[in-house]
Amino acid sequence: MTQNNIFIDWGDNPLQDPNYIAPKCVIGLDRDGVINRDLGTYCYKVEDFDPIPGSLEAVKKLRLMGHKIAIITNQGGIEKKLFTIEDVDTVHAHMLDLLGKAGCPSIDAIYYSASSRKEDPFAKPNTGMFKRCETERPYIKFSQGYYVGDKITDLKAAMKIGAKPVLVRTGYGKETEELLKRFTYKEIKKRTIVFDTLLDFADWLENN
Ligand SMILES: [Mg+2]
Repeated sequence: MTQNNIFIDWGDNPLQDPNYIAPKCVIGLDRDGVINRDLGTYCYKVEDFDPIPGSLEAVKKLRLMGHKIAIITNQGGIEKKLFTIEDVDTVHAHMLDLLGKAGCPSIDAIYYSASSRKEDPFAKPNTGMFKRCETERPYIKFSQGYYVGDKITDLKAAMKIGAKPVLVRTGYGKETEELLKRFTYKEIKKRTIVFDTLLDFADWLENN
């Protein structure tokens, strides 16, 4: 592991208590294209993890507003043997370090699938990861929350699990916004709220 160990003195911040349960609804987050730049390739090295401007600030803001946070991401390169579970865990440890540095002491969960195959019940647009999250953390109910992504598969998964779909225009978001104009996505479009960035969504939620 090449993760940095960063010591942050949070004082007696309750958000670091392992038993802390945030009072407000869950915000589910896709990773690539929402938190970090989607380079069109797989991100499995710490040095390739490039946060989208304002995204770490947004997660912090959502957390401090009292939301549960669950990151749910397809990592299809694992099954293709392009990288390993250890690589993904290393990138996630780095992401959590960056979130800590940005002032976010904790999140609730990170789930990733090893494939992006349509028939994989755990890969988005299927809801296996969401259901497993709800089973393992019964205080999380996606039907009462939001799921933020940049691809149609994210919005479909959100619809299926009953979360409010949120599209951001980072990553593949602008392409996805175009796709939403198709008749076939009429229902998804009707329910989806669109923001330029995750930070814009956080700001909106703060005022609603
Ligand atoms: Mg994405």
